[in-house]
Amino acid sequence: MVSFELSEEQKGIQKLARDFANQYIRPWAAEADLEPTPGKSFDWNIIRKGSELGFRTLAVPSELGGGGADLLTLCLVTEEFAAADPGLTVAFDQCWKFSRLLVESIGDEQRERWFPLFMDDPECLLAIGITEPGHGSDSFGLVYGPKIGIQLEAKRDVDDWVLNGTKHYIANGNIAKIYFIIARTDNAVGIDEGCTSFIVAKGHPGFSFGRYHDKMGHRNEVNAELIFENCRIPDRDRVTPIGQGLKFQSDLAKGSHVEAAAIALGIARRAFDESLEYARNRVQGGKPIAGHQSVQLMLSEMAMLVEASRNFVWRTAIRGEEEPFEPHYSLLCKPFVAEAAFKCAKIGLEIWAGMGYMKEAPMEKIMRDAAGYLHSDGSNKVHLLKAAQFFCGLTQKH
Ligand SMILES: Cc1cc2nc3c(=O)[nH]c(=O)nc-3n(C[C@H](O)[C@H](O)[C@H](O)COP(=O)(O)OP(=O)(O)OC[C@H]3O[C@@H](n4cnc5c(N)ncnc54)[C@H](O)[C@@H]3O)c2cc1C
Repeated sequence: MVSFELSEEQKGIQKLARDFANQYIRPWAAEADLEPTPGKSFDWNIIRKGSELGFRTLAVPSELGGGGADLLTLCLVTEEFAAADPGLTVAFDQCWKFSRLLVESIGDEQRERWFPLFMDDPECLLAIGITEPGHGSDSFGLVYGPKIGIQLEAKRDVDDWVLNGTKHYIANGNIAKIYFIIARTDNAVGIDEGCTSFIVAKGHPGFSFGRYHDKMGHRNEVNAELIFENCRIPDRDRVTPIGQGLKFQSDLAKGSHVEAAAIALGIARRAFDESLEYARNRVQGGKPIAGHQSVQLMLSEMAMLVEASRNFVWRTAIRGEEEPFEPHYSLLCKPFVAEAAFKCAKIGLEIWAGMGYMKEAPMEKIMRDAAGYLHSDGSNKVHLLKAAQFFCGLTQKH
């Protein structure tokens, strides 16, 4: 039987997320977005309050003290948060994605050391470092070959690994306390065989931060460069077998893309809500502009895109829990919803017209935020190409 009915528990968490977003995130977001210095307006009170309510640890199984949320529930919460502010949502979303790695993808001894650091500290955020200045899409496994993709070097030295190189654009960069780093351990083969993953804490000798990225949108998300200079990491903090560092990316694939899509969905919904309200109140031609057919057509197109996106996100989230996992659904979902959000923002801008272009109105921020997911989580085109590789039977690699 096919059902799109949420459980009472899911409806409860959705409402809690909406209330939290409306009380804490939305009133802060617009002004924080205007802060010219990147990272300066980040609000730790929201993180602490979110921790108190269980949002930060929502993806951790309940028997380990977390919220035990499945992917669909996470997407419900993500949409609510992102409708208030997609940037701040990323701070939580990185915790949802990577706490699953802390639980499922690392060894027992490592989990014992690292997991309590995340659970017990209401300010502990998580991050992952894949992208590098010279290696963006190439690090996402569309093309494999020597010297293609990830080049941050990890060289074995007795019981340690010595890391050298730079990651950039990293969400929660500088504000996270725990980082997963995918590094190159063999340049003679592709990243599918030549990368290895490590876990490292903020403050570890040889690990520092470069600039904060000054972004067009998602300004309430902190993105920074990670710099490794002769950074010694003990072998016991290597979290994948040598050469299988991309395992983390495949472990992430179940949740990462659909949660990114859920953020874009929140942006699309906000664009629609703001445009509908404006259209009901803005009077031209002797009546609210919602009374003009051209505006009705635009509102309907937005409603259609939001509805289709939500259905795609929910279905993909449910599929993400099913075995065998078929990655192409989530690879198709993120670009679809990201493009839908961008289109909704553009239509919304047309409905708001001159006022939409002004910083005093919400559409301008929505437009900038909507652009973020055309590339974040991997570029849309690369997602589509990877999806095609799967359903054309050209690859088995996530
Ligand atoms: C807001 C934001 C947050 C981010 N957070 C993180 C993070 O937390 N951690 C992290 O590791 N990374 C992060 N990233 C990086 C993100 O994953 C990369 O930006 C993305 O993978 C694209 O890489 P690139 O920007 O270097 O583009 P490039 O790889 O330079 O791509 C440029 C263009 O070429 C196209 N292209 C590239 N290769 C191919 C190909 N083989 N075939 C066809 N077309 C191709 C792309 O589609 C794109 O249109 C973030 C990015 C943003 C914008």
